[in-house]
Amino acid sequence: KGPDPDLVAIAERMTTVKHKILVLSCKGGVGKSTFSAQLSFALAGMDHQVGLMDIDICGPSMPKMLGLEGQCSHKSNFGWSPVYVEDNLGVMSISFMFPECDGEPAIWRGPRKNGLIKQFLKDVYWRDIDYLVVDTPPGTSDEHITIASCLAGIDGAIIVTTPQEVAMVDVRKGVNFCKKKGVNVLGVVENMSGLAQPLSDFKFMKKLGSSSVVDVTEDMISCVRENGPELLLDDVYVWSQVLDSSGGGAERMCEEMGVPFLGKVPLDPQLCRAAERGKSCFEGNKCSVSAPALKSIIEKV
Ligand code: ADP
Repeated sequence: KGPDPDLVAIAERMTTVKHKILVLSCKGGVGKSTFSAQLSFALAGMDHQVGLMDIDICGPSMPKMLGLEGQCSHKSNFGWSPVYVEDNLGVMSISFMFPECDGEPAIWRGPRKNGLIKQFLKDVYWRDIDYLVVDTPPGTSDEHITIASCLAGIDGAIIVTTPQEVAMVDVRKGVNFCKKKGVNVLGVVENMSGLAQPLSDFKFMKKLGSSSVVDVTEDMISCVRENGPELLLDDVYVWSQVLDSSGGGAERMCEEMGVPFLGKVPLDPQLCRAAERGKSCFEGNKCSVSAPALKSIIEKV
């Protein structure tokens, strides 16, 4: 049996890509896509040529996080071209190839998913780039196995987590997955760890009535009473993080598992806002706490 033609084609395509970084998280909503987007902005801001590939087929969020909603990819003789945010930052997402899927989770089963990821790897024309950042779906499922098996020479994976106990257990799974697949762990990021500003400055909150907020403290309630329940942080989920944001768990876990701890990013409404608007948090100085935290993490990678 000769070499797998898909793998040969992918290897050929990837000759123009210097470094490949996977961003993983073992559960949704921990800020993995936010991190991937801001990592890409940061690398592009350092004058690198950057490609960002969103392989979250069931719920692509990258177009929104880069302000590219409704855009399409075009096919030329060279292949599918990414959509460019800047001259040196190109993005590829499933929703650029199938714009009709935008906003609706695509239902793809295993083999089709794998086929699509291979097609992504084979057919997207990245030009000469220094970094390819691959934003993966939550968990360690089919997509991860496909990407780890088809993409040769991955420099490593960054695992994004939150301070919660369950997230820590998930990190262990992520690290074990990387070990099993021979992917180097570049390190772990603890996101939504502590607050970028005093709780009383968190002015807005949505879905206050939701029963998922069970343990809200009196302080938080009075803060929202004072300031009104308008939207700023998008999800009550974020609030459950606040309640559990003692922090430090990821660092201990890293020591235990012998992988680098890259640092903490606080819960910062400004970062949330930048992400939701598809903006870099490094521009201007609104994200005065989270942007330096992210920068120091990225410098370690
Ligand atoms: P994931 O990709 O892990 O599912 P997202 O990146 O989509 O998670 O983030 C989930 C939500 O949390 C988004 O609304 C995002 O803007 C917000 N978010 C992520 N990180 C932070 C942070 N450090 N501070 C505040 N909001 C954040």
